[in-house]
Amino acid sequence: MQIRKHLESLPAYTPIEPFEVLSARIGRSPDQIVKLDANENPYGPLPAVREALGKLHFPHIYPDPESRALRKSLSAFTGIGAEYLLAGQGADELIDLLMRIFLEPEDCILSCPPTFGMYPFDAELNAGRCIEIPRKADFSLDLEAIRKAVEEYQPKLLFVTSPNNPDGSLIPSDVMDELLSLPTLVVLDEAYIEFAGENLGTSLSRIREVPERENLVVLRTFSKWAGLAGLRIGYGAFPLWLMSTLWKSKQPYNVNVAASVAAQVSLEHADELKKVVEILKTERERMYEELHDIRYLKPYPTRSNFILCQVIGKDALQLKKDLAEKYGVFIRYFNKPRLRDHIRISVGRPQDTDALLEALRNL
Ligand code: PMP
Repeated sequence: MQIRKHLESLPAYTPIEPFEVLSARIGRSPDQIVKLDANENPYGPLPAVREALGKLHFPHIYPDPESRALRKSLSAFTGIGAEYLLAGQGADELIDLLMRIFLEPEDCILSCPPTFGMYPFDAELNAGRCIEIPRKADFSLDLEAIRKAVEEYQPKLLFVTSPNNPDGSLIPSDVMDELLSLPTLVVLDEAYIEFAGENLGTSLSRIREVPERENLVVLRTFSKWAGLAGLRIGYGAFPLWLMSTLWKSKQPYNVNVAASVAAQVSLEHADELKKVVEILKTERERMYEELHDIRYLKPYPTRSNFILCQVIGKDALQLKKDLAEKYGVFIRYFNKPRLRDHIRISVGRPQDTDALLEALRNL
């Protein structure tokens, strides 16, 4: 018996774990855990969403394979036609779907690390390769190197993230314009755009340009701003020429009824969610100021719901372990180039920040 050869050497993705697993591991109840490791929204779904989930009409019936009602709401929310929109089981599913559609064995994608780890993971899972064009020291994109790599490797897809995970920086619009002039399909991951500017990042998002261009895909999610990470619901805007292939290639019932209803009710109450996002943005500013005062941390400016910090004169991995084991505070450490002396902390509620700061001061 033989599995596909390329999977033998595929490194496993390191996922973060949910409350109940952390709780069992460190012997603390979930309410004694401060979870700042996965950029989730600690306020969770809106009350209206919880209520709608309790009253699902047809959970015993397969969901609409075309997510028609959700895509109609998304069309009103994003300002582009529903024919450009596809919903997925999180943005993660759509990243994988793109790889499946585009990559012949040994084809490549470009990714610009430090960034989200699923791009190389999904490329390799699909027997492709990931060419990495590192960001510069200030985490900005190395446009010249990207241009050269597009010429040399002719990647099928170029993945860029704005705001970027893990540093929270935005891609300036002139840089984005340059990327869009390259002969490749640009996948712009806007998982955190709602935290980047006023009005849920509406004026910063490039999603409304998708219908006008042939080579832009924009990915978004309900996991962060809308507090639905556990329900797995995201969406993408794609050029029309790609849509028929996407429809053919996705699993028929990829978006479950609970996720679909939760997303629709979230959109109906977007104004309330906007307030939650503003609360998180205010907390982000306070947390940034306070982290500055921790002598062994250097926080980076961010436009997202997390803050990357350089750890100076201490071991970053040990710091992460101590925070978890001694204080029940979970943050993210990446055993990856450029990040081994860094930690990423998600923005939580004021009490989460207080617990984090107390632990950091005591360590
Ligand atoms: N893109 C980025 C940059 C992310 O950080 C994440 C979540 N960690 C995702 C996509 C995946 O989002 P989803 O939960 O919708 O799969």
